[in-house]
Amino acid sequence: MDFISQRVQSLAASQTLAMSQKSSELRARGVDVINLSVGEPDFPTPQHIKDAAVAAIADNFTFYTPVPGYLSLRRAIADKLARENGLSYAPEQIVVSTGAKQALCNVILSTVNPGDEVIIPTPAWVSYVEMVKLAEGVTVEVPAGIDTDFKITPAQLEAAITPRTRMLLMCSPSNPTGSVYTPEELRALVDVLARHPQVIVMADEIYEHINYTGSFTSLGSFAEIADRTVIINGVSKAYAMTGWRIGYCAAPLAIAKACTKLQGQYTSGASSIAQKAAEAAYTGPQDCVAEMRAAFRRRRDLVVDLASKIPGFRVNEPQGAFYLFPEVSAVLGRHTPDGRLIATSGDLAMYLLEDAHVATVDGAAFCAPGYIRFSYATSDDNLRAAMERIAAAVAALR
Ligand code: PMP
Ligand code: GLU
Repeated sequence: MDFISQRVQSLAASQTLAMSQKSSELRARGVDVINLSVGEPDFPTPQHIKDAAVAAIADNFTFYTPVPGYLSLRRAIADKLARENGLSYAPEQIVVSTGAKQALCNVILSTVNPGDEVIIPTPAWVSYVEMVKLAEGVTVEVPAGIDTDFKITPAQLEAAITPRTRMLLMCSPSNPTGSVYTPEELRALVDVLARHPQVIVMADEIYEHINYTGSFTSLGSFAEIADRTVIINGVSKAYAMTGWRIGYCAAPLAIAKACTKLQGQYTSGASSIAQKAAEAAYTGPQDCVAEMRAAFRRRRDLVVDLASKIPGFRVNEPQGAFYLFPEVSAVLGRHTPDGRLIATSGDLAMYLLEDAHVATVDGAAFCAPGYIRFSYATSDDNLRAAMERIAAAVAALR
């Protein structure tokens, strides 16, 4: 007897988390695996943020929290949006959730009706398509490969919009490609969106601070679409707080209220202690953010240099996030030394894990077969060793 709903049966498991799990299992069996699969900062959470969490426990922030989050945290987020992005949001327009992941899912479930189309430029982060599936929406992929630095054009966007389009889901800096849209490129997309007032724009800005271009333009800053733009952000990446699980949406009031209603029925407010830690992240010193960015940038340079020397790998120079997304189709169709065919990027990722002991993620998980993703949020030594192992494993293919 199969007790599992159609809804969950039709979902794919998160491949980023699955590859990371596989790599931990191999490591538990004593294999020296280098894990470049899951994307999370390798730094510990800064001390002043951890201190705020300890103080929160001592001060008895141990009760249920308001469903959209503590007012003090929502004020701190509103101040951040004003200070860093020049945006004006009232605390009532902000809903704090258990990670940006829940914030994204709340917004999709709150706005997408069955059959509604959601435009997702691809390559795209693993969970978007599955969240749209949960809402019984229809994903419309708009592909952009390495030749266009993984960015879609205004003409592609225009062609993808129909009367059934409910949402465009943008991610810049991008997971998995690291691409960052320039302000001019965003402006050109906004010009298209201005002609289609039925389209909600969801801007996943979780990698805002891991951005090497020197500045960041929020999609929330374009007046023509501001009343239908939802910003997603959180503390996971900027403040090395992935385990604390705090993210948020900043949205038109009706959407924020809908998210609060939904969240009130299935998780309630996010963790009290983590919220107090997040408040310290937003109100405290910001040098930690710049220090981590500088480290990621140095590693970006290292990994681009090493990966571009692997014959058959094509790489771009990512301008943000901490991922490299090489195009690997030139090495497909070859055989491993023991005779297995490497037909797909998924086969390649498994071969790299099992034979080279480097965990990566198949590009197919990001709607982009023919690519693989590395997270370079790890030490320089790990990156050097991983690239050496990958280069040797690829050279051994026949
Ligand atoms: N959006 C993107 C693009 C991400 O890479 C991640 C991290 N997996 C998230 C959202 C979710 O972040 P959080 O850990 O805050 O749930
Ligand atoms: N953002 C990370 C990744 O893409 C975290 C894992 C996840 O939540 O998917 O690897």
